[in-house]
Amino acid sequence: MSLDSQNFETQAVRTQTEKTQFLEHSTPMYLTSGFVFEDSEEMRAAFAEEKDRNLYSRFSNPNTTEFVNKICKLEGAEDGYAFATGMAAVFSTFAALLDAGDHIVSARSVFGSTHSLFTKYFPKWNIETSYFPVSEVATIESLIKPNTKIIYAESPTNPGVDVLDLELLGKIAKKHNLLLIIDNCFATPYLQNPIKFGADLVIHSATKLIDGQGRVLGGVTVGKKELIREIYLFSRNTGPALSPFNAWVLSKSLETLAVRVDRHCQSAHKLAEYLQSHPKVNWVKYPFLKSHPQYEVAKKQMKLGGNIVAFEVKNGVQGGRTFFDNIQMCSLSANLGDTRTIVTHPASTTHSKLAVEDKLAVGITDGMVRCSVGLEHIDDIIADLEKALEAI
Ligand SMILES: *Cc1c(COP(=O)(O)O)cnc(C)c1O
Repeated sequence: MSLDSQNFETQAVRTQTEKTQFLEHSTPMYLTSGFVFEDSEEMRAAFAEEKDRNLYSRFSNPNTTEFVNKICKLEGAEDGYAFATGMAAVFSTFAALLDAGDHIVSARSVFGSTHSLFTKYFPKWNIETSYFPVSEVATIESLIKPNTKIIYAESPTNPGVDVLDLELLGKIAKKHNLLLIIDNCFATPYLQNPIKFGADLVIHSATKLIDGQGRVLGGVTVGKKELIREIYLFSRNTGPALSPFNAWVLSKSLETLAVRVDRHCQSAHKLAEYLQSHPKVNWVKYPFLKSHPQYEVAKKQMKLGGNIVAFEVKNGVQGGRTFFDNIQMCSLSANLGDTRTIVTHPASTTHSKLAVEDKLAVGITDGMVRCSVGLEHIDDIIADLEKALEAI
């Protein structure tokens, strides 16, 4: 059986660089900045790209290649390039594909630093962005202009856990001949493959569930070969490459992605159900709860509901802070997708400076808490949150 016809878990475990000198069972780490050549002809052919081989680790390295190949298999993508961080992947993807004067149509709720690219930096190159509300994907059509090049979205969104209809996004992009780029960080390739629904490129912050253990930063963009070629040429000159060490860590992490994410989702779903009937909780948002506004869409495009649960505690900002101050085991941290359960209170921290309407547009209310459910026993996670809720 060829590797391509194997299941997700098998490909994640078995995709490996070619056999090495010592036939190591686990891929060794290639900590080298450069690679040597036999003679001038070999070097000429390599630089002329007549031969597919490693030249310099800013361009490629066996560890980064293995990591990229795995993500390509798991996402059903033709090719890819790995970056030092998720944001390096987001920035380099846009920078490689856009010209001055181009226009982006993006979901209103995107990762904070991505939003800063759109509002603070891209305008320097006369690149403008228009936003559609996550609950009204169809309004994209009214925002498209002659210079629109890219439709951009995340699903589920951070921190509001909204779900966008990828099939509809794919249809709109195709109809208007636009590139569709999806940040698939919250779902991971295990829960959802945007390319199946028409995405041209998929971006991941590998820092989150792909590493899954809060150790290293990384990012990756995969998709259509000709687009990746542009991204590769841009990146080999500008230098956002993933380090071979981090690539080695992340490639190993992928071997356990499916079992980890299965447990993350199982626990997150249990927590969401528990919170739904708690008297100190106003509402809970989790893609696989029937009460989620896009439950049907989530069921159609995701294997499981993910590891992020958003909920609102009673008593607004004060309720949120009291809840936070009474958490004992879970971590108060800005990261997510770790083995350790992490709670954040956006209204008093990451999003405290935003105006009320801007907060609401991205799904944040005063008492809203985002919980990244980890791999501790679910009973212990619930017990910790229970005590904190009682204190409100
Ligand atoms: C964290 C995150 C990023 C950025 O990734 P880094 O690795 O921190 O640079 C991008 N998109 C989403 C949805 C994220 O959660």
